[in-house]
Amino acid sequence: MKTSAYAAQTATTPLAPFNLQRRDVGKHDIEIEILYCGVCHSDLHTVRGEWGGTTYPCVPGHEIVGRVTKVGEQVTKFKEGDTAGVGCMVDSCRTCANCERDLEQFCPDTTFTYNSPDKHLGGITFGGYSERIVVDEAFGLQIPPNLDLAATAPLLCAGITTYSPLHHHNVSPGQKVGVVGLGGLGHVGVKLAKAMGAHVVVFTTSSNKVEDALRLGADEVVNSKNADEMKKQLNSFNFILDTVSAPHDINAYLLLLKLDGNLTQVGVPPEPLSLNVGSLIYGRRSLSGSLIGGIKETQEMLDFCGKHNITADIELIQIQEIDRAYDRLVKSDVKYRFVIDMASLQQAS
Ligand code: NAP
Ligand code: ZN
Ligand code: ZN
Repeated sequence: MKTSAYAAQTATTPLAPFNLQRRDVGKHDIEIEILYCGVCHSDLHTVRGEWGGTTYPCVPGHEIVGRVTKVGEQVTKFKEGDTAGVGCMVDSCRTCANCERDLEQFCPDTTFTYNSPDKHLGGITFGGYSERIVVDEAFGLQIPPNLDLAATAPLLCAGITTYSPLHHHNVSPGQKVGVVGLGGLGHVGVKLAKAMGAHVVVFTTSSNKVEDALRLGADEVVNSKNADEMKKQLNSFNFILDTVSAPHDINAYLLLLKLDGNLTQVGVPPEPLSLNVGSLIYGRRSLSGSLIGGIKETQEMLDFCGKHNITADIELIQIQEIDRAYDRLVKSDVKYRFVIDMASLQQAS
């Protein structure tokens, strides 16, 4: 099926209209007409070749929501007309030890939604900056009916990427939790940690985000560039979630953890970060990473968000504005997630 999309042809040229093929709907597949697609900083890192390994043309987008327009004969989870979501993965081997534990994100053979080898059509997979997508129903997510669809799109990556480590590290009422960076991931992380009952402290480099952080549910906001404000937080956190997309000093945050505290890095700066081992040794602190979350946990996160009425704060944009949105993302100038209204694909560019 010929499908219109927006693609980057190189790391340095603007995204532009592009036609791609979607496979025919197989017996376990669903076809989704994409209504909204969130703009993750990973899209930008990939499009601009900041991590290396990008195959062009590249159609990014892994925060996809839309309407099911066709279902394969053996599909049971969805019917035509349902809303559905797709996150960062569209397939995995289904049989390895990690898949068996519902941790498909750590399968050695995961098919990511874009820039991953396409087992059906050859070449690479193309993401959600497109008219429609065809996926196995096992990788489709059900959207709680009470949530606004456009504002739900970012949950498919920003939501699960923050939910999974908060959950894994048993964040619970009474704990002190830090969220570093108030961007797409960070602002959803604040809402989730608050809903889990934690005392939430936001660390930001942007003085104009203080009021928003409090509105989003933070109990305290720290200007991370102010040494005195940082000093007041020493040795006090159970858990810190670091969502920063650029090089920064993680040692300054490790020192804020109390005994046995954990800092989990989800932001992926293109350059290595330096670690002062002393900040780990004193206080038996630990440093971890976390990658999105499995499909089962993603559904659990969506259901949790449905129950607590959590969605992202979004700026709805047209696909033609995507390069300007990327430029603003680099400047930390988004409140707090760009979401593309995919109806704009049909407009003349
Ligand atoms: P984003 O919306 O751009 O937010 C990043 C935030 O980091 C900014 O809003 C800013 O917050 C802070 N920041 C940016 N540059 C900084 C600097 N030089 N020093 C200190 N703070 C800085 O990005 P996002 O979409 O949330 O993604 C964040 C990172 O997570 C990206 O690297 C992305 O690739 C990665 N990611 C990882 C996973 C995973 O599975 N691990 C999944 C999705 C995304 P303030 O203005 O508040 O300082
Ligand atoms: Zn993402
Ligand atoms: Zn596997």
